[in-house]
Amino acid sequence: MTERDTLSFRDDLGPLKVIQVHVPKHGVEGILVVDNVAAGPSIGGLRMAPDVTARECFRLARAMTLKNAAAGLSHGGGKSVLVGDPAMPRAAKEAMIRAFAHALKGEEHYIFGPDMGTDEHCMAWIKDEIGRAAGLPRELGGIPLDELGATGYGLAAAADVAIAHCDFTLDGARLAVQGFGSVGLHAARFLAEKGVKLVAAADSRGTVYNPDGLDVDALVAHKRSGGRVADFAGGQALDRDAVNAVDCDIWIPAARPDVVTMENMKNFKAKLVLQGANIPIQPEAEAALDRRGVVIVPDFIANAGGVICAAMEYHGASEVAAFSAIAEKIARNTREVLERARTDGVTSREAAVALAVDRVRAAMDTRANGIF
Ligand code: NAD
Repeated sequence: MTERDTLSFRDDLGPLKVIQVHVPKHGVEGILVVDNVAAGPSIGGLRMAPDVTARECFRLARAMTLKNAAAGLSHGGGKSVLVGDPAMPRAAKEAMIRAFAHALKGEEHYIFGPDMGTDEHCMAWIKDEIGRAAGLPRELGGIPLDELGATGYGLAAAADVAIAHCDFTLDGARLAVQGFGSVGLHAARFLAEKGVKLVAAADSRGTVYNPDGLDVDALVAHKRSGGRVADFAGGQALDRDAVNAVDCDIWIPAARPDVVTMENMKNFKAKLVLQGANIPIQPEAEAALDRRGVVIVPDFIANAGGVICAAMEYHGASEVAAFSAIAEKIARNTREVLERARTDGVTSREAAVALAVDRVRAAMDTRANGIF
């Protein structure tokens, strides 16, 4: 990373500090970006991937500042990245993660959480090493957020509120989910409890489609047994990307960034988008869909369930309290963002960013000497 790259990410919100970690003995090449700590120590995931970049770390750290501020958590935003193959032998991964955490032992402005390439076991190693990690295994007081579906639960809470801005009801609404993993399958499950009909679901190897509705529990069981969704007997197999253009009312992206572009948005049919994945729609396509009347609940508002759960766990809350906080915070923010967008005549993304930035600035104003 060049100095110019670093400087281009500076503004009045952050980053507060950037730490590069290099431990040759354990192959550690990593970076920590603490973006903003006005509301409290930053919390954000540790991402491990062979091609992870400093640029990605800066962007993700800022996204966490906005997400945590919007969620009203007593935490700022930060992120860390480690270059490495997450599927490396366990002993090597443990040594690498322990060494990275150890190098950041005194960095109390940052609390580790899980992200791509890391899980609750990695958080247990970090907790053992430095005492500061969220997203722990149940045996260490953790709330297993992916197993319980914290983020999917939050998406369903967003749907409850956003539906007031739509011309259809949740009962009987047709849903398509791109990415039938921890986020997507739980969102389908919680929405099914509200009468929503799952008509299409995709994983990285294909789509399954049934306009009359898929049996969500049976599809979840099929997926958990290692099957591809496209092989599920209760529907028709389609190409992987067909899920993004099927006839539906609600679309949940829960896989990749930049799925909808200016090119393919003409095929897009949903009227409500609940963003499980981060930046699933390219910015200009998102603005165009918003102008077309599609109701969009932006990523850092809709998918905050995971970090809310992790923060609640960090402060010793029970599973019930964590889920209640997810529902309350996400419902309130979805309402505020969609109303602000309507009143101010801006997109829901613009309204969400304004809401989050207002909260970060308000937190900064409370700090002595404006240090943070
Ligand atoms: P996951 O790995 O459990 O599931 C991802 C699913 O997407 C898998 O089923 C995979 O097969 C599928 N997939 C991958 N590429 C695809 C493609 N091109 N088309 C269709 N399906 C594809 O991951 P997850 O935890 O569910 O996270 C999904 C997304 O949500 C990620 O972008 C993640 O950063 C974001 N997110 C997750 C959480 C969380 O709590 N887990 C919170 C906020 C945001």
